[in-house]
Amino acid sequence: MNPSESEFDVVVVGAGFSGMYLLHKLRQLGLSTRVIEAGDDVGGTWYWNRYPGARCDVPSMEYSFSFSPELQQEWRWTEVMAAQPEILDYANHIADRFTLRRDIEFATRVESAHYDESEQRWRIKTDTARTYTARFCVMATGCLSVPNTPTIEGAENFSGDVFHTGNWPAQGVDFSKRRVGIIGTGSSAIQAIPVIAEQAQHLTVLQRTPNYTMPAHNRPLSEEFRQQAIENYDEIREQQRQSMTGIVGYGFGFGGADNVEPTEAILETTAAQRAALVEQEGFVAIRRFADVALDTAANELACDMYRQQIKRVVKDPRTAEGLMPKGYPMGCKRPVIDTHYYEAFNRDNVDLVDLRRGGIETITATGVQTVQGHFEFDTLVYATGFDAMTGALQKIDIRGRKGEALRDHWEAGPRSYLGLQVTGFPNLFTVTGPGSPSVLSNMLVSIEQHVDWIADCLTHMRDRQLATIEPTLAAEEAWVGHVNEVAQGTMFTAPSCNSWYLGANIPGKPRIFMPYVGGVGEYRKKCDQVVANDYEGFVLSA
Ligand code: FAD
Ligand code: NAP
Repeated sequence: MNPSESEFDVVVVGAGFSGMYLLHKLRQLGLSTRVIEAGDDVGGTWYWNRYPGARCDVPSMEYSFSFSPELQQEWRWTEVMAAQPEILDYANHIADRFTLRRDIEFATRVESAHYDESEQRWRIKTDTARTYTARFCVMATGCLSVPNTPTIEGAENFSGDVFHTGNWPAQGVDFSKRRVGIIGTGSSAIQAIPVIAEQAQHLTVLQRTPNYTMPAHNRPLSEEFRQQAIENYDEIREQQRQSMTGIVGYGFGFGGADNVEPTEAILETTAAQRAALVEQEGFVAIRRFADVALDTAANELACDMYRQQIKRVVKDPRTAEGLMPKGYPMGCKRPVIDTHYYEAFNRDNVDLVDLRRGGIETITATGVQTVQGHFEFDTLVYATGFDAMTGALQKIDIRGRKGEALRDHWEAGPRSYLGLQVTGFPNLFTVTGPGSPSVLSNMLVSIEQHVDWIADCLTHMRDRQLATIEPTLAAEEAWVGHVNEVAQGTMFTAPSCNSWYLGANIPGKPRIFMPYVGGVGEYRKKCDQVVANDYEGFVLSA
């Protein structure tokens, strides 16, 4: 073997939660495994996204691993929804506890992965000029790991500091005495804005599309509550696995005030009743209505209630008007939850530039030129999101049988069987890939399910001395068809919806709804059924 080449049973790309759990699991199976990670340490999302205000929006008791009873008994979350530093601590704790780092190659980016048909091996090359060969290659490269910086004319001329929320400096950023501009009002910006507003001399929010966001009602986690959750963990985890989104809302207390079951019909209410509900409950009043997710007219009534509440919270009428989402349904984009987002616009040092009144023209040496005028900044923050779901996979030159490029196979949008494998790419797996519930779910539940499925598959192959697995074209086509079919008629695919789920945030990206909307529980059943039917839809060869 070439001295710069290293041979493993499995090469895993990425050391976020997916790559970490894979390593632990594959080691337990006795498979030699190498993880390759571009960052300097573990944590993935929580390693890169260190912007002020970053935190998860799923209760941490649920956004955590269940695979080790000891781990889940010993770890202490301090808040219902933990902040980024605490989640990164958790990732580091896992790396220490299971001595993961010794099998991870950090500060190394995988540039290509080519399948050698004659040797039945993947050959994986890195930017450090190393080559690894492995029977199996697992892409744990993340769905939101390639930051999107839009091309704006003149961007290179800006003389101040520039940051992207998805690649935030580990040492933090001092905003004091700074005039800060932030581009974007997605989840990242909505978390960052209230915190930057407290630190900066002045903050200008450049907003192209206002979002629908709900108050997080985050709070410290009491020891008593934690203890109660731990005692019920078996039941909570089972409920998560069978649920639609991998979340049962345990962090909010069973049946607590925040846990409103959507059973009512907004179409059966009067304007006066809706106004009274807004008055009494604010944004969360909408949660009680089941038809909002299903019916466009119902959805528009909910949007109207939402806009009424913005008017109640934001004091300046022009700013309130500017923050109101219009022209697309609630629930089409990834849900956002916030802590004092709208209240931040009541501060004297925060201004909104509603780009619907005139967009960005250029970036200058001193700020941003819009149709509405020039805005001067010392610091510019891009909170402009990610090339989601396919970005990290397509950055790697992945080639399967006969040298076919994944980029070509996916030219019209991602195609896979179960979001786990792609036809023509034997022994290549994706964790939470397009075509699986993935980003529509509590990702740790989906990551565990995929890693367990892959590990069971490799065990099955070893026990039967099978060399390769890949889906049939028919199975891939049928699954892609099913994924598209179940997404039709939902708010996610409404013609007026432009979300990163649809690839609409990246110019030229095919408009395809990428994740599987069928739900975590149903999807798990489907994956288990495929195995029970002797890996139906896959070809396994000796
Ligand atoms: P990642 O954490 O993205 O890890 C992938 C790793 O692969 C990265 O470290 C990256 O550097 C590495 N990598 C990629 N390409 C290469 C390459 N070519 N070579 C080497 N290394 C490579 N999900 C939830 O369920 N709940 C939440 O509240 C939530 N909050 C989020 C908040 C933010 C700010 C973001 C961006 C995402 C959030 N997510 C949330 C989604 C989150 O990505 C997942 O929950 C989870 O952390 C994904 O883990 P992962 O290991 O699959 O991917
Ligand atoms: P995002 O939701 O894609 O938002 C990007 C924002 O940038 C949008 O407001 C977008 O406007 C704007 N934008 C992009 N290009 C622009 C341009 N050229 N000019 C002006 N505005 C532009 O990205 P994100 O906020 O980073 O969130 C991505 C995902 O990460 C989330 O949906 C979520 O899954 C995850 N996340 C979760 C949390 C959490 O609460 N746990 C926090 C952060 C992120 P348009 O809408 O007009 O395109």
